Amino acid sequence: MLRWIYPSLCELCHEPCEGELCEACIAKLPAVPLPICLYCGSPVVGSQEDPMRCPQCRAASHDYDFARSAYLMNDSTRHLVHSLKYRHANYLAPIMGELLNRLWEDTPQLMQPGRYCIVPVPAARAHLFARGYNQAEEIARALGKLRKLPVACPLKRISTAEESQTRLSAGERRLNAMRSYAVRSAYASGKRVLPGENVVLVDDVYTTGSTARACAKLLRKLPGVRRVGVLTLIRARGRRERI
Ligand SMILES: [Zn+2]
Ligand SMILES: [Zn+2]
Repeated sequence: MLRWIYPSLCELCHEPCEGELCEACIAKLPAVPLPICLYCGSPVVGSQEDPMRCPQCRAASHDYDFARSAYLMNDSTRHLVHSLKYRHANYLAPIMGELLNRLWEDTPQLMQPGRYCIVPVPAARAHLFARGYNQAEEIARALGKLRKLPVACPLKRISTAEESQTRLSAGERRLNAMRSYAVRSAYASGKRVLPGENVVLVDDVYTTGSTARACAKLLRKLPGVRRVGVLTLIRARGRRERI
């Protein structure tokens, strides 16, 4: 009703538009350039020995089946993710779900037949208390609505060490992430099961991949899970691009 009285403005250019972002601004968002590492989805530079794997992935453990991100970090994508995360701008979740849906349709692994379900990366209790919602879950629910797929929350965040994570080394971050997530008791006891064997883990930003790896490792242990893919809106390159 309010939207009918006050036509909405594009979050980025502030011109009147139908939804939260105009198509002109969406077209200007920095898509992840090809070629990408076929495992983690990071852009890779031309001549490398193994075009399938970036150097980091050749060394790291392979806990998920593949990860893909829609956009790189720049002022526009940072503004969108930052607004959803810290400025109570959960009206942006539907457009982020829509952008992830476009990424889904460009991802051949996700177009194969099978039962899919969407799982958001859980937020810390302190974050939930301060913001009232988990931005990853908001995006996951918007994506689930568009794809008519169930959204399940089998994971929980068990530590609030997030704030200090930026000062940790890559190895320490991995360990810290492993200790930060757990399976909810209803799923651990088998009282609840995931509504699909192909799990799509959703988050707003992929930085080092330590969160995705830790969550995927837990999801893989749940009964019936065959594949775990990871979709994020933004691919940050290194710690300086952290939100
Ligand atoms: Zn615009
Ligand atoms: Zn990689």
